[in-house]
Amino acid sequence: MTNEDRSPAADPLDPVRLGFDPEEVRARYRAERDRRIRPDGSNQYLAPTGDFGYYAVDPYVDAEPDRAPLEDDVEVLIVGAGFGGLLAGARLRQSGFDSIRMVEKAGDVGGTWYWNRYPGVRCDIESYIYLPLLEELGYVPSEKYARGEEIRQYTRSIAQHFDLYRDACFQTEVTSASWDESLRRWRVTTDRGDNITARYAIFSSGPFSRPKLPGIPGIDTFRGHTFHTSRWDYSYTGGDQTGGMHGLADKRVAVVGTGATGIQCVPALAEDAAHLYVFQRTPSVVDERANRPTDPEWAAGLTAGWHERRRNNFLAVLGGDRAEQDRDMVADRWSDLALHYRQVAEEAGEEELTEQEHELVREIADFRKMNQVRERVDSLVEDPETARALQPWYRYECKRPTFNDEYYPAFNRPDVTLVDTGGRGVERITERGPVSHGVEYEVDCIVFATGFQVGGSHPAASGLPLHGRDGVTLPEHFSGGMRTLHGFTSHGFPNLFCMGPSQNGVAPNFTHVLDDQATHIAAMITESAKRGAAYVEPTAAAEQAWVDEMRRKAGVDSALDECTPGYYNNEGHSSVVRSFYRPDELEFAELLRRWRAEDGFADVLVYPAENHDSDGS
Ligand code: NDP
Repeated sequence: MTNEDRSPAADPLDPVRLGFDPEEVRARYRAERDRRIRPDGSNQYLAPTGDFGYYAVDPYVDAEPDRAPLEDDVEVLIVGAGFGGLLAGARLRQSGFDSIRMVEKAGDVGGTWYWNRYPGVRCDIESYIYLPLLEELGYVPSEKYARGEEIRQYTRSIAQHFDLYRDACFQTEVTSASWDESLRRWRVTTDRGDNITARYAIFSSGPFSRPKLPGIPGIDTFRGHTFHTSRWDYSYTGGDQTGGMHGLADKRVAVVGTGATGIQCVPALAEDAAHLYVFQRTPSVVDERANRPTDPEWAAGLTAGWHERRRNNFLAVLGGDRAEQDRDMVADRWSDLALHYRQVAEEAGEEELTEQEHELVREIADFRKMNQVRERVDSLVEDPETARALQPWYRYECKRPTFNDEYYPAFNRPDVTLVDTGGRGVERITERGPVSHGVEYEVDCIVFATGFQVGGSHPAASGLPLHGRDGVTLPEHFSGGMRTLHGFTSHGFPNLFCMGPSQNGVAPNFTHVLDDQATHIAAMITESAKRGAAYVEPTAAAEQAWVDEMRRKAGVDSALDECTPGYYNNEGHSSVVRSFYRPDELEFAELLRRWRAEDGFADVLVYPAENHDSDGS
């Protein structure tokens, strides 16, 4: 249908019907984006080393581990004891594996939930679908959006339930890994002097495990106290994740960063600091949270399979499945965009829309949703100028949406000041405090809520010496672009499995993704052991086929390229090919299920008399 054929009543772009002019909104989005693009892109950030090397110290342990270096052999070595590593361990235990060792640099399991203990921390995905293995453990979280501490304790319960503490090494970092062809095992060393051989090695280091600091000029000259949100310094602030930070009663505090973390800790800081300055570069989308305690009657009525049904329903709703939308189980603000899309498409006579018109419908749905988000700011923030500055002007999916009911009202307090840097960020930091628009804000403490080097902990990006067959490293193998089968295994790296969001599916409910990955990896290892294979390794041809398939299924997302900068689009410099399987995790998980059912194992299992040579036979 062309524009001329379409009746005005059905035109999804008609400004009169819409109540706003899409072209004006587009122009505003472009202007806001352009003023934030920086030539240095991701290089604007600093790793917390040098003067900031104290970030490497674990504030939650008070002693070095009391153990002699290990010289032994295990069946499976898992690097990283966050949800990914725990799920891999759990799924392998369920398959009967006894010899599993987790190696983790923190003092306990939990991953991101171990490190991120800032005040106000909670999951932003409903906890009934975010926490995995709920039916296995017979647990129902206490609230719709559980506190970080409840989640951390739950990760401990998983480790206990599946006996994963037994051989675990905490406060231990892997320093090298190399494939020994004669042993057909990985030789792994650690910073505690361990020499471990392992038949299978699984790396799950998490996308958010390396904090980053902003490279603001003068950051190292500040005389007051600083810390990153993932290393919250309660010895300075007092209190805990629920607040009560009496140490801040006489302190002027600055928070730099208003992403998903910043918006969760601001209300608690507002409550306890003498004065709080919130330095904003780009406002977040902050939608309604509507948290509530778990209804015991609802919990008691849950029937077998409820968890899988609920988390699949969540993704299907976001993916636009009508039938699943009609029984939206989670029913929170995450589903709003998909519901707006459905509504706009119906109004526009969906059956007749071309692909291009579908894209327009998506855009209009996004405009409508963002209008609601901006109206919400106006309704909750009393000062009109502050409200205006807090309004986000970009498409909904440009940044991780956030959900909080205390964030906007915090700006109505006389002891909270929003310092809107107009998209430029903090100009510099002096020995007294941050500067914006030439004004110096004298503070006692700066809290950096500036996020993480996303993906920097993948073994191919972390700098870890990891040598596969013939001494080839993963970065060498990936020098022309990532090369994997399903994101997990690579040719030349037998029995090595990498978890995480690369060349595979992705979803906002990241533990769902990790569970699909753990299930698949455990199945490959189980079949390998059961069938007496020497190792699991895709042929070069199978790997190439997946690289080609990913080129077809991922492609370049032009909407994301036009987004305001952030880690989603490589700080706005992203003409990179995305590495996510489309349309979503549900389809990717189905692909993995089919692969298993159709005996894809036959293509990756190598038997003792065989070898996958380098040309891919
Ligand atoms: P983000 O990278 O999302 O946010 C960093 C913030 O720092 C942004 O607001 C950024 O502004 C700001 N910033 C960076 N440099 C400067 C500067 N020079 N001056 C001023 N501001 C600056 O990190 P988060 O830790 O907030 O979140 C990371 C991810 O962790 C989330 O996307 C989410 O996936 C996850 N998370 C999940 C939670 C959950 O409940 N499940 C809770 C918290 C986080 P700009 O936007 O302009 O770049």
